[in-house]
This record gives sequence, C-alpha cells and structure tokens, in this order.
Amino acid sequence: MKNKDPDYVAKLEKAIADKYGKETIAHPKAEWDDEKEREYLKELKTNYRSHEREQEKKEVNGVLISTELLNRETKRSCPTCSKYSFKSVDDLYMTKFDCCFNCYIQWVEGREERWKTGWRPNK
Ligand SMILES: [Zn+2]
Repeated sequence: MKNKDPDYVAKLEKAIADKYGKETIAHPKAEWDDEKEREYLKELKTNYRSHEREQEKKEVNGVLISTELLNRETKRSCPTCSKYSFKSVDDLYMTKFDCCFNCYIQWVEGREERWKTGWRPNK
C-alpha cells in the first residue's frame, strides 16, 4: 500500500484505548484475558482492513474515487462489445447475462444455453 500513515498504529491504539480503557494498551498482559485479546485482535484486523479500503483510491480527472466504486463502474461497460452504458435495461442484462441489451439480442436471445456454456462471439 502506498501512503501508509506512520501514525496509523498509534491512532488505532488510541481508538482502542478509548473503547476498552487505557489499561488495555498500557498493560496488555496484566489486565487481559483471552477473551479480551481475541476482541482486540479482531478489532485491529477489522480496522486495518477498512483503513486499507479507504486508501484504495484512484485519481480520475483530478477527483479521488475509491477503487470499490470504480470496480462497480466498470461493470457498466459490456464485456462483450465494450459499450459503456448507464441504461438500466443494459444493467439488467449485464447482471443476468454479462452483456448489454444489444449483445443479448444479437448473441444470446434464443441461444441462451450456448451463452451459458461460456461461448462468446469473436471480437
Ligand atoms: Zn454489448
């Protein structure tokens, strides 16, 4: 990951200290039982993952867009003909058949079995 925040672990520890009490961080072993430690590790992992997701952003035309959103957006272009579409009808066929409405008419309609076996037109 790029741009790792060097203060991140410290911030995370503070956040956990706020939630579980200062002793948690100051005397991890003394005040802890296994249950608490498991909770702590779980918390650490969850926080770390959401932190990483936050960092996964790409600059598109000067605007930071999360890659999660970008990945969703790429589903808007048809994998078969590469047409980019915001039409909900294309959305529907994209979800169902992995192609846009036009491609459905052209390649899938009446031949759904062939399509489902993975057949695709030559590009
Ligand atoms: Zn298409």
